[in-house]
Amino acid sequence: MSSSRLTFPLIALAALALAGHGAGSRAQSPALPALDAATSLLVISPHPDDETLCCGGVIQRVLRAGGRVTIVWVTSGDGSALGMLLVEKTLFDARKMREFGQSRMREARAATALLGVPPGGQLFLGYPDGAVARLLRENRALPYTSKFTDAAAVPYAEALFPGHPYTGTSLEQDLDTVVERARPTLILAPSPLDEHSDHAAAGRAAIALGARHAPGITLRFWVVHGGEGWPSPRGLLLGVPLTPSPRGAALSPLPFALEPEEEDRKLAAVRAYQTQMRVMEPFLLAFVRTTELFSTRATPATPP
Ligand SMILES: [Zn+2]
Repeated sequence: MSSSRLTFPLIALAALALAGHGAGSRAQSPALPALDAATSLLVISPHPDDETLCCGGVIQRVLRAGGRVTIVWVTSGDGSALGMLLVEKTLFDARKMREFGQSRMREARAATALLGVPPGGQLFLGYPDGAVARLLRENRALPYTSKFTDAAAVPYAEALFPGHPYTGTSLEQDLDTVVERARPTLILAPSPLDEHSDHAAAGRAAIALGARHAPGITLRFWVVHGGEGWPSPRGLLLGVPLTPSPRGAALSPLPFALEPEEEDRKLAAVRAYQTQMRVMEPFLLAFVRTTELFSTRATPATPP
């Protein structure tokens, strides 16, 4: 990690100046409300790994400030057929896909533990990968059957509510329960503009969730699937800020600056996602930058 930083001394120096590292860099970020011991952060993560990619720095900062962090994973990433094929060297079947989901949940626990999140703040809902939008529209009341795991209800014993049906209503109720337990002051949710349908749907669900539990919760939005090869360049490039994504630029995202040690720990957490690293390492590592980006807006301003 530190040797990589030495590889880019000039870039690093320039980026450090831009990102405001050093004295005073823990000052309040324009992207987020003040982070302190009263902060209760809830990160809504569509799949295992998104929480670290979007928010690994903020998660560490909240915990260091004495605040609380809860991560809720909407799905367990059990629909990544390509990942399954490459990692397990076998064509997927329902039992294998559930085992793959369990592997990804173990990785999520390890990754977020490296960021400092205690087991009680690691909540898995276990809804079907690739079908979040469908649940919240077509399958609000009628259970959906995952084409990957063959499950029509949460199949994971380690989930928060094993056996809950794969319906949009059940997902919304589970999110309500998570909010009632975590009592968040700040929710970091995927943007409805994210290219991945699970992310966009989870973002719309977060907006509705925030409205149901208003006032008192601040919502901020992030992008992971930002379109057109973003983040660019791919791969590990420590000391360089994250640029706004093509899809999210209209939301005018603001930077949250990471300390160098937060960037290092975020890198360690990303590397804990071993199954994902084997499939898309350059993409994952491109999120280990000096900044994370958050928007106050969920959608672009409409012209008057
Ligand atoms: Zn995702």
